[in-house]
Amino acid sequence: MGARTTFKRNGIIASFALARAEYLCEIDKTHHTFISQRTNLPYSESHHFIPMKFQDHFTFPLDCTENIISLCPTCHRGFHHGVIEHKKELIEKFYDSRSALNNFGIQEMFSFYNSLKPA
Ligand SMILES: [Zn+2]
Ligand SMILES: [Zn+2]
Repeated sequence: MGARTTFKRNGIIASFALARAEYLCEIDKTHHTFISQRTNLPYSESHHFIPMKFQDHFTFPLDCTENIISLCPTCHRGFHHGVIEHKKELIEKFYDSRSALNNFGIQEMFSFYNSLKPA
């Protein structure tokens, strides 16, 4: 998650999304992490599938559980730092399952990610 965004994030919503995913990586549930000292639960990171930066394109709040995915640190960094080909693979894994968000094309998602600079 980029620290520079001006949109306020709700930690409760992110926690709920991680719990729903049972603290597993939603790219691949076999991606193991470790038990977090803070929560005593498997460590996972929340990621806004449609980056918060693009809120202006949507009428619903992007900081919602439907838009938050649970990821292991490696997959999470891939969304932010991977080459665009890697990001496209990651996006394709979620695009169909997040149907409530699909009132836009997958090419639009690719272009969102393509325009992001690594934070
Ligand atoms: Zn992220
Ligand atoms: Zn993973």
